[in-house]
Amino acid sequence: MKDMNQCPICGGSNFERREVTETFEYKGQSLEYPNYVVYACGSCGEEIVDSKCLKESGRKIRDFYRQVDGLLTSDEIKQIRKFKLGLTQDDASKLIGGGPKSFCKYENCEVIQSEAVDNLLRVLDLYPHTLEVLKNKHNHKPTSGKVISMIVKTKQPHLETSNVTKNAAGI
Ligand SMILES: [Zn+2]
Repeated sequence: MKDMNQCPICGGSNFERREVTETFEYKGQSLEYPNYVVYACGSCGEEIVDSKCLKESGRKIRDFYRQVDGLLTSDEIKQIRKFKLGLTQDDASKLIGGGPKSFCKYENCEVIQSEAVDNLLRVLDLYPHTLEVLKNKHNHKPTSGKVISMIVKTKQPHLETSNVTKNAAGI
């Protein structure tokens, strides 16, 4: 937004910053968020949430969802990952899963972890030595592209002669 004194909707200059307490509801529970910054237009009535506030409140809301759904919060994930398992965020993403940078996103409350990741973290929290299972698996992963291309090659002739594939393609 270029000029915070001008309403982007009607162009009016009667645009003011307000701090309110916003209430978020989720599955019958509510979260009070004070200092929620909005810009309200006195001319057209439009209210726009401050972008920085929207980002920060989004993080709090995701942790609130986690608590309501019985999932580990961002702080709990960090505790397990850093202090119990002694892993960097990148290593945790590689070993435990969830996609690239997953732990960075979980701990920054950008993404809520899946129930499967949550379950695995709870087991690792209680039995940290079982991390060895994941480390061994990771160390034996095929890293060469050759293995994958071999599988594709042997599967291709089969697919070409398959009636199911032909029908699906409308031939
Ligand atoms: Zn306006």
